[in-house]
Amino acid sequence: MGKLFLEVVTPEKVVVSQEVDMVVAPGSEGEFGVLPGHVLFLSGIIPGEMRYNSGSETISLVVSTGFAEVSDDKVSILVDAAERGTDVDIDRAQQAAERARERMTNGKSAEEIDYKRAEVALKRAIARIKVAEKFH
Ligand code: ATP
Repeated sequence: MGKLFLEVVTPEKVVVSQEVDMVVAPGSEGEFGVLPGHVLFLSGIIPGEMRYNSGSETISLVVSTGFAEVSDDKVSILVDAAERGTDVDIDRAQQAAERARERMTNGKSAEEIDYKRAEVALKRAIARIKVAEKFH
């Protein structure tokens, strides 16, 4: 079977740039899987786990928000942040979740945008905790 070329890019760095056999990612319309030969596809990415297979190895990444494009056996995932599930610092994610929850409770009278930002931060933190718990 053919291969896919996967790129996972954040504003900070290129996290993945390699040939893979399969990609599964958290799309805004639900989780989607990509195998070689996939049709042209665009999707938003929401905080959650993405996985890719390379040979017998499956690698798990936590991604935050962004979008994905599948075209000509190339999968491009552009997200605000991505780190390996095994690299997640659970304490840090729990603190981030706690801070976000506080901002959401105390921020009722604050700007809507602050509430939204806290909500998104909480989703990022929850995704990190959920994925990291598989590895600890
Ligand atoms: P925090 O408030 O703890 O910084 P955050 O959600 O604001 O969390 P991001 O802006 O999403 O953090 O990410 C900033 C950088 O830190 C990214 O490179 C991301 O991969 C990394 N990162 C964030 N949280 C964790 C974590 N819990 N464990 C490991 N790396 C993390």
